[in-house]
Amino acid sequence: MHHDVSEILVSEKDIQAICERLGKQLTIDYRDKNPLLVGLLKGCVPFLSDLARKIDLSVEIAYMSVSSYHGGITSSGDVKIKMDLDFSLTNRNVLIVEDIVDTGKTLDTIVKLFKHRGAKSVKVVTLLDKPEGRVVPFLPDYIGQTIPKAFVVGYGLDYDEIYRNLPYVGILKPEVYTK
Ligand code: 5GP
Repeated sequence: MHHDVSEILVSEKDIQAICERLGKQLTIDYRDKNPLLVGLLKGCVPFLSDLARKIDLSVEIAYMSVSSYHGGITSSGDVKIKMDLDFSLTNRNVLIVEDIVDTGKTLDTIVKLFKHRGAKSVKVVTLLDKPEGRVVPFLPDYIGQTIPKAFVVGYGLDYDEIYRNLPYVGILKPEVYTK
């Protein structure tokens, strides 16, 4: 375990089981729907890559970069589009792939935006959900694992751009971001 991590919350084995379970469900739910998976960069990368390979359908994949954190460990609540999609959403069944839902502000904003752009349906699959952090009501359609209100890193999730390559999700020791 990395020396800056105090506890592993979701192990590599857990992540694999989550991707298999969600992939099976999505394969059933999106049959004949030609889904467009939209990954929110950068945190979605390992999850989207593992999950997409468990969906036994032909899917298209697009990326968008949004930010609500500006370096620290709390959301600014101000959602900015840093890189937009290069796909039309008109009449598409869109499945947003997210690493973690906390305040709910990012996805609340993006789901409304995608509906406004003409998507036929917009659903959200998230690896992690921190329901205690909600500031706006938001319920993801597919959840890998619900976790307590802690700042986590690994498997795509960063602190100051570091730790994204850890193969598990763990709690970052507070001394790392308070020093
Ligand atoms: P929300 O808008 O739901 O508050 O925030 C969603 C985004 O905040 C996530 O995509 C992620 O980038 C970031 N975030 C929320 N909680 C955590 C966390 O515990 N660790 C890390 N590394 N990022 C988080």
